[in-house]
Amino acid sequence: MKNLILLGPPGAGKGTQAKRLQDHYGIAQISTGDMLRAEVAAGTPVGREAKAVMEAGHLVSDNIIIRMLGSRISQADCAQGFILDGFPRTVPQAEALDQLLTERKLSLDAVIELKVDDAALVERISGRFTCAKCGTGYHDVFKPPVLAGVCDSCGSTEFTRRADDNRETVTARLEAYHRQTAPLLPYYRAKGNLRTVDGMADIDDVSREIGALLECPPG
Ligand code: ADP
Ligand code: ADP
Ligand code: ZN
Repeated sequence: MKNLILLGPPGAGKGTQAKRLQDHYGIAQISTGDMLRAEVAAGTPVGREAKAVMEAGHLVSDNIIIRMLGSRISQADCAQGFILDGFPRTVPQAEALDQLLTERKLSLDAVIELKVDDAALVERISGRFTCAKCGTGYHDVFKPPVLAGVCDSCGSTEFTRRADDNRETVTARLEAYHRQTAPLLPYYRAKGNLRTVDGMADIDDVSREIGALLECPPG
């Protein structure tokens, strides 16, 4: 069983790598961003509260996120382990996670930092799109579908782009990352959990690097 956190700024490749880890290890990808977008699409009370905050590139309140995450990791597909993608994003969220794990007698195997320059992130986010049917992620330049306009995984021809994936909002999201999320790096370093990977490398090389560090964990 593996319980992992993927930590990194917006566009670092967390979702891309989390999906690969999910397929490879049979552990559940938990993306709080995907969960929030589903709430927004369904028009739930949480979705109505989160929508404007997300569009502005700010962080949704810790209370909402912690409640959402707590019920998610109790679900059956997490029994073999989980990959947290986009959570925690603040120190209070990390503290709440510690408490949750202790209560459930679970531990963290690794916190993997994907390190990417801010300049590259803007380009990654502006070119990002996703298969509307199966959720496979693509990029206009770095990872176009093999056959233009057709999803490699499921053959669908419908794709979506996120409302917040524009240049203006990216700046606010990067600011939020540096101010609110980057303090988690020393937080996990102090616990001895932090492993850093070069997120500037090609997608396959990043996967190989993550695979190598999971096969030989620290200590
Ligand atoms: P995050 O979940 O961290 O926000 P994504 O996994 O959605 O990031 O990746 C952002 C965009 O960059 C996507 O369009 C994805 O296809 C692309 N991408 C992911 N990893 C890399 C990489 N190592 N090199 C180039 N492009 C990448
Ligand atoms: P990215 O990795 O590209 O930043 P996400 O899908 O993880 O995108 O997040 C999209 C938006 O959802 C964030 O900008 C934020 O508004 C909200 N969000 C997602 N996860 C969290 C979280 N753990 N805490 C607070 N807000 C979150
Ligand atoms: Zn698809």
